[in-house]
Amino acid sequence: MEIEKILVVEDNKALSKLIGKKINQNTEFEVDIAHSLKEAQACVAKNKNYFLALLDLNLPDAPDGEVVDYALSKKIPSIVLTANVDEKTRKKILAKDVIDYVFKGNMDDVNYIFTLINRLSKNRKYKVMIVEDSMTMRNEVKRMLRAQMYQVFAAAHGEEALVFLEANPDMKLVLTDYYMPVIDGFELTKQIREKYSKVEMSVIGITAGTDEMISSKFLKIGANDFINKPFTKEELVCRVNNSIESLEYIETISDMANTDFLTGARNRRSFFKEIEEYMQICQQNGEQFAVAMLDIDHFKKVNDAYGHDAGDIAIKELVRIVKENIKGSDIVARFGGEEFCILLKDIDKNSAVELFVRLRLKIANNVIVFNKKEIKYTVSTGITFNCDEGIEEMINQADMALYNAKNSGRNRVEISQ
Ligand code: GH3
Ligand code: MG
Ligand code: MG
Ligand code: MG
Repeated sequence: MEIEKILVVEDNKALSKLIGKKINQNTEFEVDIAHSLKEAQACVAKNKNYFLALLDLNLPDAPDGEVVDYALSKKIPSIVLTANVDEKTRKKILAKDVIDYVFKGNMDDVNYIFTLINRLSKNRKYKVMIVEDSMTMRNEVKRMLRAQMYQVFAAAHGEEALVFLEANPDMKLVLTDYYMPVIDGFELTKQIREKYSKVEMSVIGITAGTDEMISSKFLKIGANDFINKPFTKEELVCRVNNSIESLEYIETISDMANTDFLTGARNRRSFFKEIEEYMQICQQNGEQFAVAMLDIDHFKKVNDAYGHDAGDIAIKELVRIVKENIKGSDIVARFGGEEFCILLKDIDKNSAVELFVRLRLKIANNVIVFNKKEIKYTVSTGITFNCDEGIEEMINQADMALYNAKNSGRNRVEISQ
């Protein structure tokens, strides 16, 4: 994929150079720098797809923000760089359809640019919805959220919101007004919470300042946050972005809690959680699956001969090869040091055995080079298939088959009897 670019237009050469350098260091984007409106126009003539532009309001050939109007006319999302943030300037900037403004007189504010760029870049993958019966308000919020690069849905009432949700279960955030005919904001929040927890979908209630009990009630029935009308664009954007960031943190933490740190495979706990749910579905629809225990042969010798670091690499390499040979929906989990449990979903017995035999061979032929030394090892595998006695029993059976494989000379695949 082509690397996306950001256009920086700033006549102070030291500053534009610094911003360019920091964008390169802190974001995934490349930078074009222009020092005047004329140079900016030349850049835009060459590159049609800027991710966004950082624009100085005061340029030698454009002293009054003309570059902003130009960038917006070319549909380039814009952030304004300004030397002063008095109320008049702020109003004037916000009247234009820009994403945000940054005060360039201070390094902390300049650093905010890079956080903002990364935020916007991530926002593109999130769906958010405004539910509001007033068309003026709805369109205004929609415009603000679009400027933050979210995929925005706008519903005029609760019923429409539920239709959008049904079709878009991956919605990340819902901003909902309280007063609406038929399904009001409370009812909508309640219905969302019946399906989605607070860490799956964020809800922000919008309240009119007249009744202070509304905001606390919103929170009690499961909203993540609320916002009082009237609000500034800055407040709305901060609350929305904060909510999305919280969901991202929680997702990162829960990924970490379910993953083995060394290999990136699942850990035992997350394996059991998923397979129990999966086995229930299989009992209903008769889907066939296989569970295997896999253990590296004489792994102590690998550690003894090449060192513990080499052993770690060998373990990681095993997971890489396994993942390369199974489906994305299959699971590989690290149960112990060099012992793994693998679930193959929706597969008949023969295909499962073939897969593990092929895997055994691939691992046996794989050569790891570490500190100029070549490391090879083999694995033993025990397989078992659908069983009504639960996952513990299946793992027991796979373990016994693995034990047989070890006793029959290792580097083998055995099937449970
Ligand atoms: P067998 O063929 O019977 O499985 O022999 P083995 O040597 O592989 O089995 P054993 O269970 O006796 O030893 C496993 C070794 O794996 C012991 C332990 O030091 C090593 N080990 C466990 N976890 C790690 C790890 O995270 N990294 C490294 N490098 N070694 C580990
Ligand atoms: Mg209303
Ligand atoms: Mg072993
Ligand atoms: Mg072992």
